[in-house]
Amino acid sequence: MDLDSIRQQFPALQQQVNDHPLIYLDNAATSQKPEVVINAVERFYRYQNANVHRGAHQLSEQATSAFEAARTTVQQFINAASEQEIIWTRGTTEGINLIAQSYARPQLKPGDEILLTELEHHANIVPWQIVAEQTGALIRVVPINDNGDLNLQRFSALLNDKTRIVSLTHISNALGTINPVAGLVRQAKAFGAIVIIDGAQAAPHLEIDVQRLGCDFYLFSGHKLFAPTGIGVLFGRKTLLETMPPWQAGGEMIKRVSFSGTTYNDLPFKFEAGTPNISGALGLAEAIRFLTALDRKALAHHERALMNRAVELCSAIPGFSRIGNPTACASILSFQLSSHHQQDIGLMLDQQGIALRTGHHCAMPLMERLGLPGTVRASFCFYNTMEEVERFARVLEQISLGRS
Ligand code: PLP
Repeated sequence: MDLDSIRQQFPALQQQVNDHPLIYLDNAATSQKPEVVINAVERFYRYQNANVHRGAHQLSEQATSAFEAARTTVQQFINAASEQEIIWTRGTTEGINLIAQSYARPQLKPGDEILLTELEHHANIVPWQIVAEQTGALIRVVPINDNGDLNLQRFSALLNDKTRIVSLTHISNALGTINPVAGLVRQAKAFGAIVIIDGAQAAPHLEIDVQRLGCDFYLFSGHKLFAPTGIGVLFGRKTLLETMPPWQAGGEMIKRVSFSGTTYNDLPFKFEAGTPNISGALGLAEAIRFLTALDRKALAHHERALMNRAVELCSAIPGFSRIGNPTACASILSFQLSSHHQQDIGLMLDQQGIALRTGHHCAMPLMERLGLPGTVRASFCFYNTMEEVERFARVLEQISLGRS
């Protein structure tokens, strides 16, 4: 893996922040973008800009075929069976809201159960609370163990004949916990439940095969996967998507409109009302090509090495405590320093050019379960270097010793 040449492709990594070379450790919030993605977006607006699916001119035809080719790139990336199973969204949040309102709301009856976990991001909690209120369904929550792992016994015990929906994260954004989703999907399907996987954190780090996972829906956001903001993907099994009513309505999602009645478009367009984020889709396809051209096993190996080194160095810092399971986790290091409030740590690291996130990480119920107001979260990406990890640990040690 040629780390130098990979880094050179990310212009944002080349800058100084607060007079220090930027060390970007906030990758779980959003990733930086490689030149090829920035160029794809720029190329679209310079030379290809036209609306899709409806123009009678060459630019529109070109934009449409590039946009639909991007859908095929996503389909292959997650090994969906058909392009019709790939719905463009603004991101994971919008995808979950779409499923909650279009799939769940018409299906759920009072007393039906929706199974979530304590690890979830607010995006996978609040849409379910709203639909539960609308339908009389009940939310059940799988607890975690003290080490941050999902309690698998409780997961099995909470499944029952009333469980209609199981919606859980593939990787926890707050702790890095990787859930053994394939096995959990199998168990839930045995009870006839529909399974939704929030892949916002997993798509950038793991190879996703939705057919092998056997889930009904899988969601991710482009911006965490080196693509622009405002574009995301909802994968849904075709047989389910076909039974679902449209969510939003307007242009693109119709075949024929008259005041006596409207016929909806075929999949995937039925769920894509209005002008889509065309440049975002092209940028996402470019990001996927960029990522898949690299040796993903080598990237994962490097991220693991960064994580191990960070844990090793930080564990020696007085007052450092790691939140989460040291073994089964993605490249996310959530921690506290007993000497300092997490927000102060974030500010002091920022003064040294080190960017990371502090707070509840949009997972307030998880923080409540852990009895913490929040954590400091360093999240690593393959473009981070060992030197960056070492500098981060050195600065953190200085902070803990009151020397920063
Ligand atoms: N789910 C998880 C696990 C996340 O980490 C995030 C973003 O941080 C989301 C959902 C929401 O993603 P977005 O804000 O891109 O819709």
